[in-house]
Amino acid sequence: MKAYRIKAMIGYLASALAAGAATFAGMHTMVPWSQLYGKNFNGVREGLKVLALTYDDGPNDPWTMKLLEVLDKHQVQATFFMLGKHVRQRPEIARAVHEAGHAIGNHSFSHPNLIFCSQARVRQEIEDTSSAIFDATGQRPYLFRPPYGGRRPGTFKIVESMNMLPVMWRVTCFDWNAKSADQIMGHVHRQAVGGEVILLHDGGDLQMGADRSRTVEATDRILTEYKDKGFLFVSVHEMLQMRPEAELPFNARKLGD
Ligand SMILES: [Zn+2]
Repeated sequence: MKAYRIKAMIGYLASALAAGAATFAGMHTMVPWSQLYGKNFNGVREGLKVLALTYDDGPNDPWTMKLLEVLDKHQVQATFFMLGKHVRQRPEIARAVHEAGHAIGNHSFSHPNLIFCSQARVRQEIEDTSSAIFDATGQRPYLFRPPYGGRRPGTFKIVESMNMLPVMWRVTCFDWNAKSADQIMGHVHRQAVGGEVILLHDGGDLQMGADRSRTVEATDRILTEYKDKGFLFVSVHEMLQMRPEAELPFNARKLGD
């Protein structure tokens, strides 16, 4: 029964992919696409049994690689919003994430709050990070997540003008200062109903090596528990391809912080 449900979900995703293919073909020119659907992406229709795990502030040694093991065990693709400075420090970890088939997004170079940055600085932060990711993986990212979710009017216009799509989230796990995996699970249980982009952290913005053991443990539990309930886990890249089918009311919900 469980296997059947998961198969049905994959079938649904496949048909959504086909329906979305024409829209998605213009990946290089994200601007018209995002004008159609809104200013940023944070998930698909509420209640749809699909979730996207996202991890910010890496790559981070050793926690990013430990996370890759857990994701591999569950055969799930996630999305990593990386900091340019950490990619420059540990390009081989970024490459391993890419080679494992996960999506990589840009999370700025040095993690400033963009509310306080000039337009030129915002562009520089994004460009330096995309270059670092390209040097590590051979692919330029098209997904962007602002540090702290911070932006002011015009910030996402800059992002769009650089042919990138702003990605936010609807479930905040507060894993950066969680005392235990239980605490992280509590936040997931309270917020996740399906359709959401979920915010987690494989790294810390201040330095390499931030302890993310609780995030890794919580990831294993989230995947075990929600897959058992019939949820499908996809990368943001995959979730975007579902959107034309998923009738998302964009920005309809309050974002986390
Ligand atoms: Zn961050």
